[in-house]
Parts: sequence; C-alpha cells; structure tokens
Amino acid sequence: MDLKLDSSISLIKGVGKKYLQVFHKNGILTVLDLLLHFPIFYVDFTTPSPVIEAGEKKLYLLEVLQTRLSRIFRSRRKISILRVKARISNREVYLVFFNKPYLEEFFKTAQNVYIYGQFELKDKKWQANTPMVFTDSDLKPVLPVYSKISVIKSGTLRNLVEAALENLPDTYEALPGYSLRKYSFPGIVEALKGIHFPSEYRVEEIDVLKKRFIYGEFLFFQLELQYIRNFFRQVKRVNFYKITREVKKVAARSLDFDLTPDQKRACRDMLKDLEGEYTMQRLLQGDVGSGKTVVAFIALMFARVSGLQGAFLAPTEILAHQHFDNASAFFSPDIHPGARIELLTGSTPARKRKEILAGLREGAIDIVFGTHALLTEDVRFCRLGMVIIDEQHRFGVSQRAALYYKGHAVDLLVTTATPIPRTMLLSLYNDLAVSVIKTKPSGRLPIHTRIIPPERRDHFYKWLRKKIEGGEKAYIILPLIEKSEAFTELRDIETESVYFRDIFEGIGIGIVTGRMSQGEKDTILDDFAAGKIRVLVATTVIEVGIDVRDATLMVIENADRYGLSQLHQLRGRVGRGNAQSYCYLFPSPKITGKGKKRLSTIAASEDGFKIAEIDLKIRGGGIIAGLEQTGYLDFKIGNLRDHMEIYKEVQKDVVVILEDESLQNEFIKGLLQGVREKLKTIHFS
Ligand code: ADP
Ligand code: MG
Repeated sequence: MDLKLDSSISLIKGVGKKYLQVFHKNGILTVLDLLLHFPIFYVDFTTPSPVIEAGEKKLYLLEVLQTRLSRIFRSRRKISILRVKARISNREVYLVFFNKPYLEEFFKTAQNVYIYGQFELKDKKWQANTPMVFTDSDLKPVLPVYSKISVIKSGTLRNLVEAALENLPDTYEALPGYSLRKYSFPGIVEALKGIHFPSEYRVEEIDVLKKRFIYGEFLFFQLELQYIRNFFRQVKRVNFYKITREVKKVAARSLDFDLTPDQKRACRDMLKDLEGEYTMQRLLQGDVGSGKTVVAFIALMFARVSGLQGAFLAPTEILAHQHFDNASAFFSPDIHPGARIELLTGSTPARKRKEILAGLREGAIDIVFGTHALLTEDVRFCRLGMVIIDEQHRFGVSQRAALYYKGHAVDLLVTTATPIPRTMLLSLYNDLAVSVIKTKPSGRLPIHTRIIPPERRDHFYKWLRKKIEGGEKAYIILPLIEKSEAFTELRDIETESVYFRDIFEGIGIGIVTGRMSQGEKDTILDDFAAGKIRVLVATTVIEVGIDVRDATLMVIENADRYGLSQLHQLRGRVGRGNAQSYCYLFPSPKITGKGKKRLSTIAASEDGFKIAEIDLKIRGGGIIAGLEQTGYLDFKIGNLRDHMEIYKEVQKDVVVILEDESLQNEFIKGLLQGVREKLKTIHFS
C-alpha cells in the first residue's frame, strides 16, 4: 500500500500497538515525523579500520575464533557474560558482552563479523566492551545509526524507515517552486532516501540534502511569524495623544530621580511613535536593572492624560504585584489626581475581579496590571489605548495578539531584559522598532562576583551573618524545594533551611518557592522589602524582575547548574541601589567543564549582552534562556547557531513569497489560511 508523508505512522509495516504508543509519546505521529528522525551517524562498511585504534570508536571487520558464555551471580543477580576471541589483521582481540546470551549462537556460526566499538588494552589484551554487532546478512554499504526513541532501537528504526521509504511515491513537495528553483533542492523523497540510505558515505553530500529540510522548517516558521507581523504592522493610528510640555513635567515630578540619558531617549522614541501615522510597535530592551519599568509607566501616563486606558501584562504574579505597587507610588493622588489603578491576577477574589471587569468596561479604571488573567475573554475595555508587555519573550505572539485586540489600534510597548545579541535581534523582532537602554542609572557600583570553594561554606555563611547583622539583606538561591533521589548533589530548601535557621538565628529569614500561594509569596516579599526579614531563601521564582533596592547580597548554590543568562538574571536582583553589592557562587561537587566555564564567565563580566553572546556560543540550540521555555525557537532539525545563514536566506524569501501570491503553493496557502483564522478568533473574542 502506498503511504503518504502525512499518513499515520501506524500504516508502516512493523509498527504495532506497542511501538505506536511509544512513537506517539515522543511526538512522532506521521510517516514524515519518523523520516525526519535523521541518523546520528553512519557506519561505512566499505572502509573498516585495518588496525586497532585505541580510545576511538571504529568499524572493524574481525574473524571469530572462539566463543564462551558464562553465567555468574553478582549482588544476587544473575548475569551472563559472553566472551568472544577474534582476530583483526593478525592481532588477537576480545569482545565482552554482558547479558546478551542470544549473541552466542550468532558468533558460533559466524566467521567474519563487522563490529563498531572501541578497544582498550586490559591485562595486555585488546578488549572491546559491548560493541555494536552487525548481524544482518545483507549489509548496505553504508548503514545509518539512529538515536533510540525510548525502547525502539536503532536497528528497528532502520527497518521501519526502510519500509516507509519503499512505499512512498515520489510525488510530494512542500516547498514552493520558487525555493526549489532558487536553491536546486532535491525532491523530498529523493532527499530522504539519500539521508537515510546513502549509497556512499560523503558528509558534504548528506549535508546538502539536509539543507532542504532545515530550510523548510525555517520557512514554515517564518511564514507564520512574518504574516502575523505584517498584520500588526500596518495599523493606522486612531488614538491621538496630547503630550504637552506640562505633561512631561508631571512625568518628571512623579519620580524621585532623574531619568538616565538612555531612558530619555527611549521616551523620545516613544513620543515620536505616538505622534506618528501608525501605531507604536516598540521593543524596549535593556539589561536587568537598567530602568525599563519607569519608561513603561510614562507610556501609561501618556495614555491616561490622552483619555485612554492602559494594560500592563507581566509574566508572573509576583511581578504584576510589584509593578502595581510601584505604579501606585508613581501615580500618587497628589500628582495624578483621580488616577485609578488595579491589579488583576489568577488569585484575585471573584468579587474583586467582577468589580475590576466592570470598571474596565465602563472606563472607571485607567490602568490595569496583571498576568495571563488579563487575556481571558471576559476582560473588556472601554477605550484601551496602551498595552505594555513585560518580559516579552515569555509570551508568544498569540498572547500578544490576545491583549492587543482588546482595544482598537492600540499602541504597544514590549520590554525584555533578555539581552538578545544583535545578530538575533533582527531575526526575532524584525517587526518591532527597538529602543535600547544601555547604561544603568548612575551611581550604581559594579557587582563583585566571587566563586566560593565548597569547603569554605560554613565559614562563608558565618561571615555572611556578620554582613547581615551590619544591616545588609541577602538572597540565597537553591535549585530544589525538597530532596531529590535523582539529583543527590543538588541542595534543597527543606534540608538547608534547617541549617540556615541555625546559622541566621535571631535574624528574620523567609522562604519563597513556586509552590506557595500568591498571598504567601507576597507577604514574605513585602516583609523582605520592609526589612522585617533580612534573608530570603528561594528557588528561581525570584529570577525575573524582583526589585528590592537595598538587597546587596546574592548567594547561589549549585550555581553551575544554571544557564548563563539565568545566572545573570539572578545576580541582577542585587546592585539595584547605590550600595556595593556582591554575588557569591557555590559550584556543585561534581562540576563539569562547561559548568566551570559558565561560572568564570559570570564572575568575569557584568555585561548582559556579552554574556548572552557567550551563552549562544556555549549552548547553541535552544538559545536564550526564556526563549526556549516558550518553545518559540525550538526547531527540530535546524538551529540558529549552526544555520543562521539559512535562516537569513529564508527571511528574505518569505518576504517575496508573502508579497506574491502566485509563489504560494497549496501548503503555504493552507498554512496562511490557518493563521488568518487564528487571528480572527482573537479579534472577535
Ligand atoms: P528593569 O529594567 O530591570 O525593569 P527597573 O525598571 O525595575 O529595571 O529599575 C530598577 C531599579 O532602578 C528600580 O528600583 C527603579 O526605581 C530604579 N531606577 C530606574 N531608573 C532610575 C534612574 N534614572 N535613577 C535611579 N534609579 C532608577
Ligand atoms: Mg523589569
């Protein structure tokens, strides 16, 4: 029976109920999904290694001399050991297999056997431990090897892939003719055959075949993204702002400090947008603590004085709450008489929520702060004009759209503290104008970052106690809430809080974790801000945005377990006032080379942009912390580190394809139709 690329995987011969379940669990639903599970490497049978190369995995052709199977008991379990004596070009070697008794039969009858493995010298004998054995009688010249999918092993996958490819007519094409002509890509089935079963092993040729799939993956992602962006971009202004000199003075009076030059520039950029013909679509980018929030408040104020409502979407309840508190101070009644500001989150009581919804609908409320709770259908505005989205990378495009369409031609300001390297910025946010806040408010001292050797731990915490007694405040970050059998070297809050209560006896300490209710978290954070608590023990729930200006000490346990950007974010919780701040990093007992590199990078630099660039180099793939959480840039085949060039080509091609409908094939038309539907439902909800 002929298969199609989008046929269910269950139609492939050999896929039974059990495998079907495994595949589904791993997100492999269609024939194409399976075929895109590319080999991780190839064994080239045309060139077995003639000599033993120690310490390296190689393909060998060996002559079997003797086979012996023995069974022994080890810690009460019966295990079998199969020893095979063999010869490679006149040298005696030994293969050892644990718990593979079924191989005995094979080795007893086989004469010449291909194995893939690594030899080591043990007791003056060359020995390979459980090498891969090729028992197939008709070996292909080049054999693909796959990473296991749960219990489904490479050999099985190979058979399934082969069965699928045999029954796949060569009539498919997802890429538009425009791209096929431009890059002379091979056909889809031809490329798949070449990738899975190359007739000769040539890396460059296989890479060329793969390129069409990477291209395709980027293309369909970009088509959707750019389509949505175009949709946002072309919005004519309907809300007009009245920003007089007087209004600017009021803004200045609302703050107990002067704006930095970068903040002023961001405000000017914003004003230009608000006076322009089209709505504002601006990204405000700045390192942690650079003062983005204030700029957002000013935007909200501009909306209010122009008779418009504002909405501020924050990624977490803690942050929404904090912004709300700060805004309440900014919009104080003596400077902004009559301003009404509310907070709406998942934990807002039903009665209060109802009241807020009514206030927003009737226009009695000027500005609302909140979390995802703002996005639900029942939240309606009377005249929403300004939307702020804080920490944009935590929200997807559709969430942005959901809030956006609660108003009519609203102005949009999104902020991000993720220092996105310049090369990426254009690719990710090419629909947004960008203002960057580079310099932090003056008077800030650089944060001193130190790596503390584990044996100094007790000493360190005693010393830390003295600093706290001297009036400072500390965060202590631990990776786990409770002990985990799986990660014994990671410290947890439950165990350590006993230790901390002892060390910091007589000093108020508080604990914040993601498991606590919002009310509980808020109480403790408020106590910490007010100084009733001077040590805050927490998980990374406090990672983003928490702003306690006089906290000066940040301690991170198992610090090497965090990504660079995350460490930078955590460190950014201190150094927010004018006092000298410190960050102390405890490495894990078994620190990896990469872990060490991360810690030394953080210790050496405080420049978020530089750190992000290094992060990109070290991690590649999922890229920037935060972005990967949304799965936003989680490609299956391509990645932006290795394939940026392709990504850029795709970007240009997509502009062309979107502009000229005659270049769009059925796939693309279907995709865009889907996006249109999505935007429509958002629009009318
Ligand atoms: P982020 O960019 O991380 O969102 P915030 O807006 O939270 O930074 O600002 C960090 C801290 O710096 C806040 O306490 C804020 O009040 C303060 N701040 C912002 N701008 C200035 C300034 N121009 N001068 C002094 N302090 C400032
Ligand atoms: Mg912020």
